Amino acid sequence: MQSLTNRAKPVAPKEMTFMERIYLPAILKGMTVTIKHFFMKKVTIRYPEIKKMFSKTYRGLHVLKKDEQGRERCTACGLCALSCPAEAITMTAAERTPAEKHLYKEEKYAAVYEINMLRCIFCGLCEEACPKEAIFLTSEEIAPANFDRGDFIYGKDKLVEKVHGPQGKVRGGGPLDKNYYHGNAQVTSAFQNLELSNNLKV
Ligand code: SF4
Ligand code: SF4
Repeated sequence: MQSLTNRAKPVAPKEMTFMERIYLPAILKGMTVTIKHFFMKKVTIRYPEIKKMFSKTYRGLHVLKKDEQGRERCTACGLCALSCPAEAITMTAAERTPAEKHLYKEEKYAAVYEINMLRCIFCGLCEEACPKEAIFLTSEEIAPANFDRGDFIYGKDKLVEKVHGPQGKVRGGGPLDKNYYHGNAQVTSAFQNLELSNNLKV
């Protein structure tokens, strides 16, 4: 067929040389490229042993905060659930008894508080809506992968902060302490030892 553009190049089957037929130079060339990558700067990290440091404004997993006396701040008002565009939050309110004053700051508290992490889009609107500064999105943690959908329903056992630290260590506000929320000292120190922090900040 006549070419319209005149740019077509006829390709004739070419006889392979001896070196091409034994493939050795091509294999060596490929190995050189592979070995070269062993000595190049790595762009990957060994997750989950090493975790990437997120920016301070990153919106990760939620934490239900306690006050300076170690009492849960949440008063089960439901504003976070109402403001949630993904309808990811559910809760059941209960009334505090006199014996529970050291556990809950307000007279009404959340006996059950659950967030469905499969629905959550980590928009942070629950944090904005909360009048008690009870819920924050941490910038250090993300919901880990799982095979069971039920494990993505985070209840109070996972959401309420484990330890109470000094005032000001709130996510989104005061200075961040990487080990504060989840006691992840080992992971963090491994991270620091490898001096990856500067390279991996996003
Ligand atoms: S971060 Fe957004 S989507 Fe997730 S629970 Fe809060 S309001 Fe809902
Ligand atoms: S986290 Fe805040 S907004 Fe949500 S129920 Fe508790 S007090 Fe209300």
